[in-house]
Amino acid sequence: MKTSELLNRYQITLKKSLGQNFLSNPDIAFKIVEKSDVKKDDTVIEIGTGAGVLTEEIAKKAQKVITFEIDLRLKPLLEERFKNYENVEIYFVDFLDFDLSKLINYGNLKYIANIPYYISSPILEKIFFESPKFLYAILMFQKEFAERIMSKSGKNYSPLSIFVQTFCEVEKVLEVSKSNFIPSPKVDSVILKLIPTEKYTKIMTPQKFMKFTHICFSQRRKTLKNNLKGINLKIEDLFDRINLNHMIRPEEVPIEKYIQLYKMLEEKLVNDKI
Ligand code: SAM
Repeated sequence: MKTSELLNRYQITLKKSLGQNFLSNPDIAFKIVEKSDVKKDDTVIEIGTGAGVLTEEIAKKAQKVITFEIDLRLKPLLEERFKNYENVEIYFVDFLDFDLSKLINYGNLKYIANIPYYISSPILEKIFFESPKFLYAILMFQKEFAERIMSKSGKNYSPLSIFVQTFCEVEKVLEVSKSNFIPSPKVDSVILKLIPTEKYTKIMTPQKFMKFTHICFSQRRKTLKNNLKGINLKIEDLFDRINLNHMIRPEEVPIEKYIQLYKMLEEKLVNDKI
């Protein structure tokens, strides 16, 4: 049954405040799962079940789908839709409040979701800071947000770009035009595959590094040196040691330089409890 018919049948009107733009085209859900290469021993976590279009496609392939939906109005619809799927477990809770360590015993964890865009950053932070080890996260984002994640310099470059690219390999999976959703949002969407890499988690704490990059970008138009003055009075010396121009602005600094700077300042950041 089409998503719109299903919603009419259960008399559900979608709420903008919950980021409810549901996939109306099941072909997109099929494509996402096909490109995700879901295997039969995978446990897939989905954030935002909606009417279950993507959930159902994942459930056809994975050993288990654990899906989160905050809107209790969708409960009757989803319970009916998945009554014959023993591998679908639906939690009607706020994903951001869920204790992800409960999922530690599942093997081959993967995230696949068309997430509620209004909490894209908190969802990413939760997955990276709290999730048990996972193989990848294939997530749909607003196009602009995906561009910020992938950016290497300039106006879209931000702590988000630096953080994600430091701890993950990022691949663009698919662009999805707004006409594939109900209601149709104002902007197009992009699906990214984020594959965690262990290269830097071994040498620095992601949360600390994230805080550090926020300090670096605290005043985007000022120089990086200025933004870091509060942490280290001899910041010029550190800049010289890694050949960094004193006048450079945060959006012009490559990721490797942020990592080098962080490593040099780490002890001070930890002592100051920053
Ligand atoms: N996966 C469905 C699809 O592709 O059609 C729905 C996607 S819709 C963009 C996002 C869904 O996330 C909505 O159903 C919304 O109610 C739900 N949602 C919003 N905030 C949430 C939260 N904090 N925790 C869990 N689900 C949430």
